[in-house]
Amino acid sequence: MTRIRLGFVMALIAGGGLMFQAQAPTAQKAYKFTEIVPGVYSAIGTGAMNVGSNSAVIVNRDEVMIVDSHISPESGRAMLQELKAITDKPVRVLVNTHFHYDHTNGNQAFPSGVDIIGHEFTRRKLTGDILEKGMFADLVNGLPKQLEDLQARAASEADPAVKARLAQQVPVQAAFANSLKDLKVTPPTVTLTDQMTLYRGDREIRLLYLGHGHTGGDIVVYLPKEKVLCTGDLLVHDIANLIDGYVNEWPDALEKLKPLDFVDVIPGHGDPFKGKERIDWFQAYLRDLWRQGTALHEQKVPPADAAKRIDMTAHQAHYPGITTPGVNVPAVLRMFEVMDGRADR
Ligand SMILES: [Zn+2]
Repeated sequence: MTRIRLGFVMALIAGGGLMFQAQAPTAQKAYKFTEIVPGVYSAIGTGAMNVGSNSAVIVNRDEVMIVDSHISPESGRAMLQELKAITDKPVRVLVNTHFHYDHTNGNQAFPSGVDIIGHEFTRRKLTGDILEKGMFADLVNGLPKQLEDLQARAASEADPAVKARLAQQVPVQAAFANSLKDLKVTPPTVTLTDQMTLYRGDREIRLLYLGHGHTGGDIVVYLPKEKVLCTGDLLVHDIANLIDGYVNEWPDALEKLKPLDFVDVIPGHGDPFKGKERIDWFQAYLRDLWRQGTALHEQKVPPADAAKRIDMTAHQAHYPGITTPGVNVPAVLRMFEVMDGRADR
């Protein structure tokens, strides 16, 4: 099914009049590495390649741990290649903070000797039907149109700067679609349900599951000596994707971050940041969203209408992207799913 759809994407790219090369530009690196504390880096996409999420690179005495593998086999391979600029030690452990494709599609690029650690829930999802339904299927179904739209916008844009930016995105997205052709969903080979601690040289690396949040199996990576926390999408720089979330339980999981002694946060999306205030901000957002969603659900308001009526502008000071009332429909569909007891447990 997925293979056929991706085949369609490639036919579109090759024969649909989209005049570009199905390769991302190679001159520019895919990742920018920033050393947060000695030996611990954030890796954030430069835009030269669609890499999806951020990752964290933890260089230990003898080897390397990577947290999250990015959005495609190609972006996973680029990570392993570009990593050589900061260390020549071998990668031994890959952590998947959760099952979403933008954090796990690069898994297959890692050599077979690398342990892939994730929550039991993550393994269950990645050995299940994720290619048939949910976020990944939506992505694949939406890609042909997205590419067409991007191409059309690049062609018709009058502003030269915007036109150049759009034109730069076209081959990036085409290369992304191309890389997905080779995707082999690769689940964790080592799982945990509550916590696990790895001792590597001087480092203590704790993997913690804090309850239902952004998915049913998010884990955070905590370095107590270095006071660094890698949060995946449980806590990001702005508002996390809610499509598989448990908006009602998520604030409780976030509450469990507060006793941890950390200074630096490497999130799954957005720039690294310091401190704990974003926990409070996001808890407030989620609680307000759930409260408004519950009221509309009780009134049997259809999801699309509810999405228009929910007003989160009170949170604009913390999330400048909120400029008008309304939230996206998938977020409401998901909340209603949880309210109706239809969500995965
Ligand atoms: Zn993500």
